[in-house]
Amino acid sequence: MLDWLYPNTCELCGELSGATICPACLAGLERVPRPICLYCGAPTYGLETGTDRCRCCRVFPRVYDFARAALMRTPVTTELVHAFKYARASHLCVALAPLLANVWEQTPELREHGDWVLVPVPVERGRLMRRGYNQAEELARALGKLRGLRMLQLLQRVGTEYTSQTRLSARERQLNARQAYRLIPGITEAPPHLLLVDDVYTTGATARACAAALRRLSGVQKIGVLTLLRAE
Ligand SMILES: [Zn+2]
Ligand SMILES: [Zn+2]
Repeated sequence: MLDWLYPNTCELCGELSGATICPACLAGLERVPRPICLYCGAPTYGLETGTDRCRCCRVFPRVYDFARAALMRTPVTTELVHAFKYARASHLCVALAPLLANVWEQTPELREHGDWVLVPVPVERGRLMRRGYNQAEELARALGKLRGLRMLQLLQRVGTEYTSQTRLSARERQLNARQAYRLIPGITEAPPHLLLVDDVYTTGATARACAAALRRLSGVQKIGVLTLLRAE
């Protein structure tokens, strides 16, 4: 039934491939170039030497321990995320999860612990009802299967769609995000190593807001952030 609805053509080039994204298209997606800021994961293009933090991260308070992403946000990868927001999300997430697993191999902070628990960034309830899924959760589930990791829902998104982030300035996003993510009522403790999973890291406002909420849980030692895409 599913094969009939979704014949195995590549989401990007449309060629028959037997895979949601064909190997050539997968290889062609733009990875986050090294070196990166060791805090937020932004590519530094070798311009900022002698420090492990980018200029931005010297301004923002340190809330999470590190953020990493698999791909740069480009027109092609944006189209991909758009497709999994509105179409066959779980297929795409399974196809893209190996890219997140690759980040694992390149990140000593992740390899350091074997007990990371994946925490998807929640979406607002109305959107969840309409779409039927949360793309961050689909990504976390696919990655969890690949690496044998547990997923836990700890956060909730509050507010209405009027607080959708897209049309806001960076400063507005920061304020808005801080009010938009809360711990699920009744949750007071969590495992020591939490890894927030989301589709896109834009200004970092969402990651910082979620991490700030998670910091209030007892037992938490490290909070990492892993996203599929990274904006410049
Ligand atoms: Zn293709
Ligand atoms: Zn940085």
